[in-house]
Amino acid sequence: MDNQRGKGLSFARRIYGPRTIGSGFGGLALMAALVPLDVPVWVWFLLLFNAFLWPHLAYQLSSRSRYPYRAERRNILIDSLGGGFWAATIQFNPLPTVTIVSMMMMHNVAAGGPRLLLRGLLAQATGALIAFLLLGAAFTPNTTTLQVYACIPVLILYPLAVGMVSYGLAIKLGEHKLALRTLSRTDSLTGLLNHGSWKDVLEINFKECKQTQSTATLALIDIDHFKHINDTYGHIVGDNVLRTLSNKLKENLRTEDLAGRYGGDEFCVILPNRTLAQAREIMERLGRVFSHYQHADEPELHVCLSIGLASCRPEYQDASMWLNEADKALYIAKNTGRNKVSIGAADTLMDSVLSKP
Ligand code: GH3
Ligand code: MG
Repeated sequence: MDNQRGKGLSFARRIYGPRTIGSGFGGLALMAALVPLDVPVWVWFLLLFNAFLWPHLAYQLSSRSRYPYRAERRNILIDSLGGGFWAATIQFNPLPTVTIVSMMMMHNVAAGGPRLLLRGLLAQATGALIAFLLLGAAFTPNTTTLQVYACIPVLILYPLAVGMVSYGLAIKLGEHKLALRTLSRTDSLTGLLNHGSWKDVLEINFKECKQTQSTATLALIDIDHFKHINDTYGHIVGDNVLRTLSNKLKENLRTEDLAGRYGGDEFCVILPNRTLAQAREIMERLGRVFSHYQHADEPELHVCLSIGLASCRPEYQDASMWLNEADKALYIAKNTGRNKVSIGAADTLMDSVLSKP
């Protein structure tokens, strides 16, 4: 409800400026068209009200309303009703009439698209009918030079005002789109890349490795006995452990290393241009740093990591083969005592071949 009201208020605020400019300068064009006509004095008062007071009254009405959006749409239809009324009152003097009608159409389509445009046209027709009934129907086929000049300010300033509002909206939309994109790629608990976006990054890095035949190592990191930590100390402490690990990752990696939360208590890192030996050193250091974790309220809580490593190898057909190898390495770490860094069979074989004299 509050969100709806907020949106309605900003809608009303967006319309306030262009309406004030359009009504004020449009009023000048109408005055020039009314001067030669013999209209009752109340028509002049009504025009003064419509041109200079109505925009402020309309804003007050919508901003004080329980439903500002609805109130503002009603105000827009009143604008159109007024537009139709004035077009008929100035006896359809060509230039001021076209000016008013086209400004109204711009106003309506910018605020509510084709539906409001159509409803606005109906409101204009109703306004014209009211003028016919009150003042009679007539047609003035010529626009004087003074009336042409009187139309110029609104013709220049109103589209400018609408354009500025649209530009502001486009900028805001762009910012929101960027923020949403970032949010959709980020894991909300840790601020790291989430599963989906990390997998995208993995694909890109795998292709790059294959194309440039460069080195890269993949690390899958899993907290040991995390379920036990949750069960013993609660999920808030568990969350704190997860956040601490993500902070340690941020502190201990280079900016080009790509860390993500794979899911649950499992994290993943791509280390571009790092050999298996270099990655092992980095991960062993991470394990040591993380094992110093201390929780202020739970001094007996100790944590450690199991980490599986896999280098990007030419024989892998796709990124999932690389990831699979890191997963196997993690499995080895888990099954050979935990709290360690392991490598998979493919890398072990190559290691032993390379280390032979
Ligand atoms: P292992 O040593 O074999 O890795 O055992 P484990 O207990 O760490 O592994 P397991 O996969 O059984 O447990 C992971 C737990 O992580 C289970 C799940 O309840 C918990 N978990 C998943 N996401 C979150 C989270 O966002 N916050 C917290 N606190 N716990 C989570
Ligand atoms: Mg675990």
